[in-house]
Amino acid sequence: MAQILVVDDEIGIRELLSEILADEGHQVMLAESAGEARRLRERARPDLVLLDIWMPDTDGITLLKEWAASGQLTMPVVMMSGHATIETAVEATRIGALDFLEKPIALQRLLGTVKRALRSPEAAAAPQLSLSALGRSPVLADTKKRLAQLAQAGAPLLLRGERGMRPELFARLLAAPAAPFLAGAELLAEAPSELLAKAAGGVLFFPDLTRLGRAEQRNLEFLLARAEKHKVRLVSFSPLDMRTLVEKHDFDAELATRLGILENRIDDYPHQFSGGMRQRVMIALALALNADVVIADEPTTALDVIVEAQFLDLLRELRDEFNLTIVIITHNIGVVAEVADRVAVMYAGRMAELGSVHDVFANPMHPYTQGLLRSVPNIELTGDELYRMEGQPPNLVSPPSGCRFHDRCPHVMDICKEVVPGFDPVRWDRRVACWLYQQQPAHSEVTAAT
Ligand code: SF4
Repeated sequence: MAQILVVDDEIGIRELLSEILADEGHQVMLAESAGEARRLRERARPDLVLLDIWMPDTDGITLLKEWAASGQLTMPVVMMSGHATIETAVEATRIGALDFLEKPIALQRLLGTVKRALRSPEAAAAPQLSLSALGRSPVLADTKKRLAQLAQAGAPLLLRGERGMRPELFARLLAAPAAPFLAGAELLAEAPSELLAKAAGGVLFFPDLTRLGRAEQRNLEFLLARAEKHKVRLVSFSPLDMRTLVEKHDFDAELATRLGILENRIDDYPHQFSGGMRQRVMIALALALNADVVIADEPTTALDVIVEAQFLDLLRELRDEFNLTIVIITHNIGVVAEVADRVAVMYAGRMAELGSVHDVFANPMHPYTQGLLRSVPNIELTGDELYRMEGQPPNLVSPPSGCRFHDRCPHVMDICKEVVPGFDPVRWDRRVACWLYQQQPAHSEVTAAT
């Protein structure tokens, strides 16, 4: 039993074909217009389409071209018409139609054509659309690489270019092979929560932002706010830049910014971005290079506390999603506590202590780490003066001998001033560079070492 889509604006033809095909044991779907056919094709790939050429909204040839351009012409299509010319039939075949039925359609001719179409290679299960479908030229190879990188990110994506660039094909390539892919502006008429449930884990594609009215834009905004929660990727296309879209098509400026922030800011200089945006751009650069390790040097310095919290959330999400190793260099103990698994405390260019964040914070061993944690402001301590370590960090041009912390250390011993402590394990997962935890060498060894 095959699933056959009959597209014809004449109810009599639809019902007659439906009856005949159902009698043959096929499952029949009916569409009275190109719009309805588009919607049904989005939902599922039929095994065969019988497509009328002359229809009042969009004619069959145009619909066939749309399917071909969007990569959806993966099933056999038989065109039908009562007044089509040979040229029209040839054009339909050139676009990808398999055969042609002239109205009035004779029963035997219909059944024979349907049988042949269902046995054709086009009727076999459609191959999964993949990046390899784009060909092998250097330009396409570069496009494939970029699409593969974009496919990994979950953020909303705005495609920009000529209408003929086949945006839907690119949007389809961003969806995982078995994931749902729903496309069409008409989706915005559906209940947003049901639509998100249907598209969960996949892609929702809106093919032309210039055609969205205000009500549809509001629905798109609703989807945008909830898509991430449902693991839905929103991909949209605009043949116009965002500024023109807002000015000439009554498009909501805020929504345009959220959909196309990079496109809007692509020509801006770094000083025109906020601190948070600069940090995001740097992270995007690191991800675009497929980095395994990202080193972030004082990543929250320019950020206020709210943006800092958002940025740290983003770092954590990216770390989990891309399996990244992130090395953060910071003076901010709070940032370490928020995002790190392990911490290495450094003093005057040398490792002082290494361990899990939980362990080091709960039980600091090196006197410098102890002083550092005691000097962190604590909102629960009132009336007491905040602890501060005595002295200043040393001049690294001529650093102190022995332990570089010795002239500030409350536990300093003679050996500390003469011999550099090793950075030795004191437990299986903990290292401390301090003579308090290490066997001190004999006096003769100390003399030799100095
Ligand atoms: S080695 Fe000595 S000076 Fe250095 S931290 Fe330990 S106790 Fe203090």
